This record gives sequence, C-alpha cells and structure tokens, in this order.
Amino acid sequence: MTRRQKIRKAIILISFLLFPITINYFSPYIIIDGAAQGIIAGSFITFVLLFMVSLFLGRAFCGWVCPGAGIQEFCFTVNDKKARGGRLNWIKYFIWVPWISFIIAIAILAGGFHTVNPLHLTETGISVSEPAAYMMYFTIVGLFVILSFTAGKRAFCHYVCWMAPFMVIGTKIKNYFKWPSLHLESIGDKCKQCKICDKNCPMSLEVSRMVQSASMENAECILCGVCVDNCPQGVIKYVRKYGKLGL
Ligand code: SF4
Ligand code: SF4
Repeated sequence: MTRRQKIRKAIILISFLLFPITINYFSPYIIIDGAAQGIIAGSFITFVLLFMVSLFLGRAFCGWVCPGAGIQEFCFTVNDKKARGGRLNWIKYFIWVPWISFIIAIAILAGGFHTVNPLHLTETGISVSEPAAYMMYFTIVGLFVILSFTAGKRAFCHYVCWMAPFMVIGTKIKNYFKWPSLHLESIGDKCKQCKICDKNCPMSLEVSRMVQSASMENAECILCGVCVDNCPQGVIKYVRKYGKLGL
C-alpha cells in the first residue's frame, strides 16, 4: 500500500472513531427538526459545506474524510465483493429527493429560517451523550456493516447515502464548467488492460473501461486515488487543470 493510501486509510479510520462525537452533524433527521422550527442546524451547515467543497474537490470527502468510509473499508477484510451499482445507484436519489423536498416544504411552512444553531439537538457538542443516541449510532453503524457484508464494497455509499447527491450535483457542475478542480485523467494508450484498477476500486467501478473510453468522469468516483496509486503503468493521474495530460 502506498504512503498516500496509508494516510487516507488512517484519516478515515480516525474519522470513524470520532463518529460518536460527530454523527449529529451528518444527521438527516436533525436538519428536519431544525427546519420545522426555522433553525439552521449543524447538519444543514455540513451539507451546504459538502456541496460547496465538491465544486472544487468533487467527492473527495467520501474518499478521504467520511466516517462511514472508515468502517466500510474495514469491512473489505471480510467481504471485498463488488457492489452491483448500475441502476441500483438510483436508490439513493429515491431517498434523497423526497427527503430534501420535505425539508424545503416544512421550512416554508415554518416561515423560513430565522436562526442559526449548529448545536441544535447537540447541546453538549457531543452527539452520543445519552442512551437513545447510542441506539441511533449503532443502527447507522449496523447498516454500514450489514450492507457491506451483503451488498458489496461501500454499498451504503452506492444505495443509501443522503450526503452523496449533494456532492454528485457539485461534481457535475464543476465538470460542466471545467474550472480548475480535482479530478482524474488518464493516458489510455499506456494501459495494458491488467484490470488491477477494477479489482481495487473501492466503489467497484470499471476503471479500465473508463480509461479506454478516455472519460474518467463517474458520479460514483470518490477520488480516493486507489487506482492512481495501484496502476503499474502510471496511467491514471490526479490533476487540477482540465486537459493537463493533453487529452
Ligand atoms: S491498472 Fe492501469 S494498466 Fe491496468 S487496466 Fe487499470 S489503467 Fe490499465
Ligand atoms: S475510479 Fe479511482 S479514484 Fe475513483 S473511486 Fe475508483 S479507485 Fe477511487
């Protein structure tokens, strides 16, 4: 494993260990509770920040920071089968669209937002501070683990995550306008089709096919850099400016 991937793994593992403290700031419920009272809660702020960051870093949060990444990639030691992906990836949008619509509707009914309180329902600043919160914590962690064991690598990211669509939208916008931002590019004619990248991609993407088609854009790519660091031919690169590799 390269030094960069060791650092990435360490960051996502630490992020998972901090999850009992941070879980409320990713909560799909607390944003609703806040919206019903006209309060911009902690998770509202997180989701807006994730969207804004994705305009420059795509889904790098998913690959490099997310607490759910830590536990799911640890599960690879038990089950490293690929997630099916494809059309099943749409499941998360069937969750996200009604959820975000509901938040907008109740915020309008509440007369709009009038207060900012990042500690809404997290008064101590620590998310898991009483028994009911432990239940929520273990339910979410259980879902990460069960889906990893039954539906393949990072299945929660593919099928459930309510944060991913914010970053997919941000990524689509940055890719459309092609302003300088982190993304992948490849030199297809150096590819030997060994498919090491396909085998190692934590999001089960057909990376070699992306290389062959000279299009490294994929809504499910989390910019983890595993393909960059494992390709024996050095075919795939992280780049900031579009067309840097002359493609
Ligand atoms: S690991 Fe590199 S050489 Fe092998 S298939 Fe992937 S891009 Fe091609
Ligand atoms: S394509 Fe590469 S950077 Fe994207 S998720 Fe797969 S291994 Fe990570």
